[in-house]
Amino acid sequence: MMYRIFDIKRYSINDGPGIRITFFFKGCPLSCLWCHNPEGISRTQTRMYTPSKCILCGACVHFCPSGALSVPRRGASGGIRCDASRCTLCGKCAEVCPTKAVEMAARSYTAEQIYAEIAKERPFFESSGGGVTFSGGEPLYQGEPIIPLLDFISEAAARDGYTLHRTLDTTLFAPESLVRETLGRCELYLVDLKHMDSAVHRRCCGVPNEPILSNLRVLTEAGADYIIRIPYIIGVNADEANVTATAAFLSSLPRLPRYVELLPYHDIGKSKHSRMGTVYNPDAVPMSAPSEADLQAAVDIFAKYGVPSKF
Ligand code: SF4
Ligand code: SF4
Ligand code: SF4
Repeated sequence: MMYRIFDIKRYSINDGPGIRITFFFKGCPLSCLWCHNPEGISRTQTRMYTPSKCILCGACVHFCPSGALSVPRRGASGGIRCDASRCTLCGKCAEVCPTKAVEMAARSYTAEQIYAEIAKERPFFESSGGGVTFSGGEPLYQGEPIIPLLDFISEAAARDGYTLHRTLDTTLFAPESLVRETLGRCELYLVDLKHMDSAVHRRCCGVPNEPILSNLRVLTEAGADYIIRIPYIIGVNADEANVTATAAFLSSLPRLPRYVELLPYHDIGKSKHSRMGTVYNPDAVPMSAPSEADLQAAVDIFAKYGVPSKF
């Protein structure tokens, strides 16, 4: 079984307790307007091109087996042209590019290869109480095979004489049966919540929120340990009505989160879309970062409902 991964972050201190290694799995059923990892949305390979690194040597054009690439006309800007309808995402252009102006976003790993990367970080886990985090994209979008992977890494660590702390960073937009199978197989969940109104959620993220809310109830009924993370965006979800609805919902669950973390909006995804040849926020929905006062106002609302929060 191969797992498609588009990034591995070492020494991570924001994806769960301690110092962690975070794997970003390719594929996400959501398509959030503000996505900061748009190269992780498609389940298949993604080609990324950075014109500022391109020296127009023409190697990629020459070696592309599909004839998808062309050199721009003299005087034209924007670098090498790619006809996406002809590109088979074979990756040959990235192999021959001398400057890494072209890169393919994903690599495939076996469970053994994933554990080998985890094992290299063991000294950091032991000194900090860290571990591994599976993120994305959406790690549960890998489907059933994520379950044997969670077992495999835990058993491999036990054979090596240590206990591995496993965190799942998830939208919970997944079949309930799969979410139930993760119970007892990870020690902490980082759950993204975007909006409490399903129609708005569908407009901004491409899918309704009912499965997410229902799966969160499933987790909390089972007593799972979790943190809620909210991308906090003026123009999308940073308003009193949505924060109040979120706080009321969380306070109604059988178990409260450790805390809610408000993550202020940023537009880092813009440059990645440009490298992918796609458009960021195509409908030009106005989005901006909240002020400290906006964030504090949200924290005050969560406090009224007895839900710990921070930013
Ligand atoms: S859930 Fe995360 S990875 Fe998926 S589209 Fe939204 S921001 Fe991107
Ligand atoms: S990924 Fe393959 S088909 Fe696509 S442009 Fe590169 S070489 Fe051509
Ligand atoms: S191989 Fe790389 S540097 Fe050369 S033209 Fe293609 S993208 Fe540019």
